[in-house]
Amino acid sequence: MSECIFCQIVAGRIAAKKVGETTHVYAFRDNNPQAPTHVLLIPREHVADSAADLGPQHAVMLTELFGLAAKIARDERLELGWRLVTNVGPEAGQSVYHLHFHLLGGRSLRWPPG
Ligand code: 5GP
Ligand code: ZN
Repeated sequence: MSECIFCQIVAGRIAAKKVGETTHVYAFRDNNPQAPTHVLLIPREHVADSAADLGPQHAVMLTELFGLAAKIARDERLELGWRLVTNVGPEAGQSVYHLHFHLLGGRSLRWPPG
């Protein structure tokens, strides 16, 4: 059994609030939300630990992921703005090493991030 927490969420062994999915992508709510909308979008398969591992073989999955993010932003009525970010490595705050993008919205987001 995989020890990766996000692999276990995709497999249904750990509960999460699903908000969307495609063939290669799964989206669910972060359990420690940093904004009114805080959704994590991940590849179903553990194809990369972080964005540092991405290559041309991930093009279809990434296209699905960005399309699903835009759909969720529409569904959540984030017409005033939203952010899609990924943390790479400890200094960026990465804590789970299964590639994921944070979709954040529903409040004014500062720039640059802290
Ligand atoms: P990172 O810090 O790696 O960029 O983001 C990991 C995110 O995963 C964090 O925002 C954290 O709150 C979220 N997270 C960690 N464990 C779980 C979990 O078991 N369920 C859910 N829904 N989110 C989780
Ligand atoms: Zn994983």
